[in-house]
Amino acid sequence: MQIIHAITKEKPFISLEFFPPKERTEWPTFFQTVDRLAGIHPLFASVTYGAGGSTHGNSLEIVTRLKRDHGMESMAHLTCIGSECSEVERFLGDLTSAGVTNVLALRGDLPQGSTATTATATAPPFRYASDLVSFIRAGHPEMGIGVAGYPETHPEAVSPDADLQALRTKLDQGADFIVTQLFFDNALYREFVRRARALGIQKPIIPGILPVVNLKVINRIISLCGAAIPPAYMAELQEADRSGGAAAVQQVGVAYARRQAAELLACGAPGVHLYTLNRADAVLGIVDGLLQK
Ligand SMILES: Cc1cc2nc3c(=O)[nH]c(=O)nc-3n(C[C@H](O)[C@H](O)[C@H](O)COP(=O)(O)OP(=O)(O)OC[C@H]3O[C@@H](n4cnc5c(N)ncnc54)[C@H](O)[C@@H]3O)c2cc1C
Repeated sequence: MQIIHAITKEKPFISLEFFPPKERTEWPTFFQTVDRLAGIHPLFASVTYGAGGSTHGNSLEIVTRLKRDHGMESMAHLTCIGSECSEVERFLGDLTSAGVTNVLALRGDLPQGSTATTATATAPPFRYASDLVSFIRAGHPEMGIGVAGYPETHPEAVSPDADLQALRTKLDQGADFIVTQLFFDNALYREFVRRARALGIQKPIIPGILPVVNLKVINRIISLCGAAIPPAYMAELQEADRSGGAAAVQQVGVAYARRQAAELLACGAPGVHLYTLNRADAVLGIVDGLLQK
């Protein structure tokens, strides 16, 4: 089923994002995590592509198994920068054969050391995610399409307005909904939605929430994606680390993410997309009782 049809029927909802473990030996533990999280009945579960060194084959296999063996509607992330049409087409064909009918259409990060100009010059025909959206729309009408949105503006964008216009282009090309980059201040989401609606974007905007489970991991993630941590929250995490170590950090991180999620749902977000980090405990801590009326 295309996820957009489920989004419009079932509100509020939880969705989950997994990344494929690098080593095959980690897969049994990974699928145990999936099984534990199947119990919260996510509206869908997405699987990252190429991120963190994972291979495309692993992404394909995991997104297929989530749907076939674990009862989750699944969505494959797909990046296009540096790809040939034939490569993208093969991946889409494999998804269709496996019964996976949803894609998060992404440009992907530029290769290190390149700029938008040099990378795109060497990577026709996909310059931006919008090119991928129109490619999928033209050849795969069976696919539901999500795209990425940036409450704090994409780091390479020339301006917040230009970035929002780029988002609108992706929707005009046929994308169905938006999943946001992670953020830690709900005011950023509310303002992003307000600006998007003012620009005529009416599609669902699903906020992405990340539980902080470890200071080292979060510092690496925010240095990559550019999200800001409110100073008071960072101070709380650091204090937890000093007094109680990793377990205390996770406790603070989960409580914060839970408050964030509850407030977002209360202010009208259609659901929340949880960046699981493949950690069942953290996710279960966030969602416990979250959707109860
Ligand atoms: C929810 C989510 C999931 C993600 N999953 C993955 C993943 O699985 N694997 C992975 O490698 N990465 C992933 N990423 C990261 C993503 O690939 C990067 O943020 C990437 O740098 C941009 O991808 P995009 O699809 O947003 O690109 P685009 O929408 O193409 O935007 C990229 C930049 O180009 C600008 N732009 C867009 N169109 C135009 C235009 N026509 N003219 C001028 N400028 C333009 C935008 O403002 C932006 O600055 C994810 C990000 C999010 C938010």
